[in-house]
Amino acid sequence: MKLVYKEVPVEFLSALPEGIKYVQKQGKDFLVIEQLYCRDGHSLMADHVRLHGEPSVCLDARIGSRQGRVFVDAFWGSHDKLYSFLPAEADLHSITEARCPHCGISLIAPRECLYDGCGCLQAIVLNLPGGVNKILVCAKHGCPDHELVIQRIPEEITRRVRKINYFGEFHDDMFRGI
Ligand SMILES: [Zn+2]
Ligand SMILES: [Zn+2]
Repeated sequence: MKLVYKEVPVEFLSALPEGIKYVQKQGKDFLVIEQLYCRDGHSLMADHVRLHGEPSVCLDARIGSRQGRVFVDAFWGSHDKLYSFLPAEADLHSITEARCPHCGISLIAPRECLYDGCGCLQAIVLNLPGGVNKILVCAKHGCPDHELVIQRIPEEITRRVRKINYFGEFHDDMFRGI
């Protein structure tokens, strides 16, 4: 399977919010999450667990009856994750109850997911530096919906960024040999 590259809007690259950087792989731009916090200001980045060479986003999570750490790929649009536990088959479409791994505060907030056929009413809220901008991720396990709420970038631009999803194809080509 070939990675289908999704272009990052130039308007977004030229006004990157704090906490998001871009890296180039084979001449193409990718957005990478650099810093995220819980509501109490604890960093959610895990330097010691790297995915595609970058620190991952670490959450405490309960999926169905299973609980543990989840490390999420910081590359925007990638859905690669490492689990310290095995989510049960039966729980594959249940809600991920995410918490800060440092203080245990819930990262869940009400939000209706508009992704085709999802309809989940909860999202995981991840705060970017500065306390205003944030990333909302649909809490339904397996749903690819993620949204950037950035104050000084027009919604039309963030909507295009929202549509960047690589699904299962992210490993191929672009990341071989790094
Ligand atoms: Zn915390
Ligand atoms: Zn969803």
